[in-house]
Amino acid sequence: MAIISSKKQPQEPEQPQRRVSASAHKSPQAPPAQNLLQPQAAADELLKQEENIRPQRFADYIGQKDLKEVLDIAIKAAKVRGETLDHLLLYGPPGLGKTTMSLILATEMGVDCKITSAPALERPRDIVGLLMSLKPGEVLFIDEIHRLSRMSEEILYPAMEDYRVDITIGKGSSAKTRSLQLPRFTLVGATTRMGALSSPLRDRFGLIQRLRFYEPDELSQIVLRTAQLLQTTITDDGTEEIARRSRGTPRIANRLLKRVRDYAQVKAAGPITQSLAAEALQLFQVDPCGLDWTDRRMLSVMIEQFNGGPVGLETMAAVTGEDTQTIEEVYEPYLMQISYLHRTPRGRVATPAAYKHLGYTLPNEQLSLLP
Ligand code: ADP
Repeated sequence: MAIISSKKQPQEPEQPQRRVSASAHKSPQAPPAQNLLQPQAAADELLKQEENIRPQRFADYIGQKDLKEVLDIAIKAAKVRGETLDHLLLYGPPGLGKTTMSLILATEMGVDCKITSAPALERPRDIVGLLMSLKPGEVLFIDEIHRLSRMSEEILYPAMEDYRVDITIGKGSSAKTRSLQLPRFTLVGATTRMGALSSPLRDRFGLIQRLRFYEPDELSQIVLRTAQLLQTTITDDGTEEIARRSRGTPRIANRLLKRVRDYAQVKAAGPITQSLAAEALQLFQVDPCGLDWTDRRMLSVMIEQFNGGPVGLETMAAVTGEDTQTIEEVYEPYLMQISYLHRTPRGRVATPAAYKHLGYTLPNEQLSLLP
C-alpha cells in the first residue's frame, strides 16, 4: 500500500481562560496537556505500528452494520461483473473508521489503496500526477475531500466519470488541451462536512454512506479486540468502562486503552478491571461520559449564563476558543448523540441530562426550591 500523504496533525488543545471551581463536577477543569479525547489522529497514531491494530478485513470491522451490508453487496456485485467498485463517499466525524474501511475495500477487491488528503492536492499537478500513477482497479482515498481546491476538483470530474484527465499545454491563444486515458479506479472520498461538498462533486459518487457513532457494546468489542492484539488482559467490565468514556469513537477507545494499559503496568499486576480503568481515566481527567474540557465549558456556559439556552453557535465558539466549524463537526455531534444538547432554529439548548451530568439543578427544580 502506498501512503502518499498522511492525515492533518491534531490541533493543540485550547488553554483555559477561566477559573476552576472548587466543585469539580460543575465547572470544567483545564484540559490535560495531551487531550486524550480529541477524535483526530495524534502524531504517534500515524505511525506504522498503529497499522497493526487497524482491522484488515470486513470480519474484523466492528459495528456500522448498514454500511457493511451496502458495501458487501457492492463488492460482490463488482467482483461478479469483473468491474471496479463505484466511487464511494464516506462522511461522519473523525476517528469512526473511514480510512480503515477504504483499506478494507481495497483488500477485499484484491487491489492497493493510495491514501492522500485534499490539502496535499492543492496544485493541479499534484492531483494529475496522482491520477496518472494509478494502476487498474486501485482505490484512491482522499481524506477531507471537501477541502479540494476548485481547480483540483475540476480535474477530478472527468477522471471520475470517464477515467480521463484533460491537461492544458501552453498559455493564451496557443494553449491546447490533451486528454489522457486513465485506468478504471475507485475513488473513496472522506469528509466530516457533507454540507461543504459542492454538488457536482457529490453527484459523481455512486455510493454515499454515513458513519455513525458506535454503541457502547460495539466499542467494548473494539477495546477487547485491541487488548488482545496488544496482549493485554482486560475484564468485561474493564472494556465497558473504557468504552463508556470513548465518545462513540474507536480511535479514542484504542487511545484510552493504551493509557490504561500503561497505568496498569506501573500500578498493578493483573488484568485491567473496571476499577483500575476508572482510576486511571480519572487521573487522565477523562470524564465518565467522555466529555472533554470544551464540551463541559460549552454546557456549563449555556447553563450558568444563558439559563440552558438557546445560545448561538458564534457564542459557543467565543467562550471555548474553538472555531464554529470544529464546534459543529466535532463537539456537537457527540453531545447530540448522548442527548446532552439539542439544536433548535434559535440556537443550542442544554438538556436536563446535561444539567444532571454536570451537577446543576434544573431551572424548574430551582423554582420549586424558592420559598
Ligand atoms: P477516520 O478515517 O474516520 O478518521 P480511521 O479509519 O483512521 O478513522 O480509524 C481510527 C482507528 O480506529 C483505526 O486505526 C482503527 O484501529 C480503529 N477503528 C476504526 N473503525 C473501527 C472498527 N469498525 N472496528 C475496529 N476498529 C476500528
